[in-house]
Amino acid sequence: MVDLKAFTRTLNSKVALFFVATAILLVVIVTTINLYAFRSFSIASSSEDIRTAAEIVRVHLTEAMINGVIDKRASFLKRLLEVQGLAEARVVRSPLVVKQFGSGFKEESPIDDVERRVLRDGVPEYQVVEVNGDTQFRGTIPFIASDRGTPNCLQCHQVSDGSVLGAVTLAVSITRLKSQAMWTVATTSMAIALFAALAFFLIRRMIQPVASTATEVEAAVQRALRGDFKAQVERRTHDEIGQIADDMNRLLTFLDDGLERIGHNVAHLTNRAPHADENRLSVTIDMVDALTHAAHFKQAIEEDETKGEIHQRLARTLSGEFGLTEFSMYEAVSNKNQLLPVFVDGQMGEPCRWCDPEILVRSEACRVRRTGHEVDGVRTPGLCYAFQPPEEAEDRVHYCLPIIQSGSVGNVLQLVARKADQEWLKAQIPYINVYLREAAPVLETKRLMETLRESSLSDPMTGLNNRRFLEEYVETLLAGVQRRKIGLSILMLDLDYFKMVNDTYGHDAGDAVLKALAKVLRQSVRSSDLLIRYGGEEFLIILQETVGAAADHVAETIRASVERMEVLTGGTRLKKTISIGVADFPSDSETFWQAVKFADVALYQAKERGRNRVVRFDKDMWGDDKTY
Ligand code: GH3
Ligand code: MG
Ligand code: MG
Repeated sequence: MVDLKAFTRTLNSKVALFFVATAILLVVIVTTINLYAFRSFSIASSSEDIRTAAEIVRVHLTEAMINGVIDKRASFLKRLLEVQGLAEARVVRSPLVVKQFGSGFKEESPIDDVERRVLRDGVPEYQVVEVNGDTQFRGTIPFIASDRGTPNCLQCHQVSDGSVLGAVTLAVSITRLKSQAMWTVATTSMAIALFAALAFFLIRRMIQPVASTATEVEAAVQRALRGDFKAQVERRTHDEIGQIADDMNRLLTFLDDGLERIGHNVAHLTNRAPHADENRLSVTIDMVDALTHAAHFKQAIEEDETKGEIHQRLARTLSGEFGLTEFSMYEAVSNKNQLLPVFVDGQMGEPCRWCDPEILVRSEACRVRRTGHEVDGVRTPGLCYAFQPPEEAEDRVHYCLPIIQSGSVGNVLQLVARKADQEWLKAQIPYINVYLREAAPVLETKRLMETLRESSLSDPMTGLNNRRFLEEYVETLLAGVQRRKIGLSILMLDLDYFKMVNDTYGHDAGDAVLKALAKVLRQSVRSSDLLIRYGGEEFLIILQETVGAAADHVAETIRASVERMEVLTGGTRLKKTISIGVADFPSDSETFWQAVKFADVALYQAKERGRNRVVRFDKDMWGDDKTY
């Protein structure tokens, strides 16, 4: 069956349908009117003919009666039939005439109901009949008795005025008339149909460009909705329709060029170009969205204070914007072959879960860290041997990405998903990479700043913290003292006659002695104690939770260790001693820095008393009469 709904969707089809329907309707109406008109005309003219002929028959019969030749009436009727077109001519007698004059000829009796009705009612009747393939119009006209005229009927007939005396049945052939009518109707209908067809083709020719342009514009718009602006509309005419085609083409080219340029730039930034089966416009919109979000992300992390804040923001973005749950980040420890988990499954401070823990102590075990390339565990499962998901989550795939800082892998981001979600995961990679690319330089800056800060707080020669470090750290230190309510002791150390080493053996020998001393001191204190190179050859040791005699004891141990120390420089074996001043905080002083000063005072005393010794601060050492 023809789908009419679909068919009437195009302008062309609509016009065709309209014309065909109109033409058919016109032909039907004209044919009907024609047929009806011909029929009415035929009946009217034929009945008129029959009435005239009947009158002639009546006049003749009357004449025959007057002239006494009424018995010859049969030959008259026979001759009458020679008239062309007259198919039947019969006269019938009414019962009144039969009663007066007898039944007459055999054929003058009524032969059918029509004649009997006409004789009874005196009303003429007409009918169309088919006789041996000939169409005839048959009429039966009554002869009514009348007292008018001379002679009148009543002079011979003994009947009352208005009685039916007889009837004449005449039939005329209308076959020719009918075929002529049919021919006229047929030619008229044909002419109309021809005219309609001609008009149809003319109008169709006129609307063809409109319809075709409309179809092409429609197709072009459909393609544009699918993100493809390559369609063009053919210009067929030089009127408004042609202008529409031109404008449409200009618009399409403009959009295509624009999208091409935006898409190219965006693809360059995201490393993601739309596939052939993708909607180029939707993909570009998605990518621009991602870039916009990433730009906001970058703005936010640039204003973050620490690396940790950036890490947290990245974790929030990965879970919030990408809906990831199993994602971890590791940080390469500078100058060490180690990786530190930054967050695991989005949580800070969690232990390594998805990888062989070996990566933590030997970072080369991590393929991304080693190669600096992405590791696509979706495309090539088992590519990285270090990916070892726990037993309860074995159906996982991974995708690991490097964050390059200062030309090497600073961080590794690991994304984990169920096998069922692996395609979805891969589709997210270009967008996640946009964020990582934004994060990389900011992380790099933060890392450099931290390194710089660390270097400004330490002494490169001995590797010990310097006085600036103490100045920055003192607040934290004192907060701990207050919290624990246990004091600390301060040891101020100074090499004895150190100037002499420089003078005698040179500055390098002096440096060697300082390095060796730093090493001995490092070995002599606990990790909770603070060891600081306070000045040129002066050192400060802060012993936490050790005061009084215990501190003196530690100081004495240190002094003895230094005394045993031997430094080999330029073939000479050097031995040096140190003097140590000790003061406690807060028992000796109210402020920390004053305790440092008191330790220095005690050191001065140690020097005074002959060097290579430990002297504890005493209040007597601090008075108006003392000058230092
Ligand atoms: P004292 O026993 O009284 O402390 O005698 P001293 O010779 O040690 O006297 P002082 O403490 O005044 O001398 C400090 C010397 O340490 C002076 C300086 O040349 C030297 N010095 C300071 N820093 C360095 C350094 O980094 N390397 C070297 N080689 N020498 C340094
Ligand atoms: Mg000194
Ligand atoms: Mg000295």
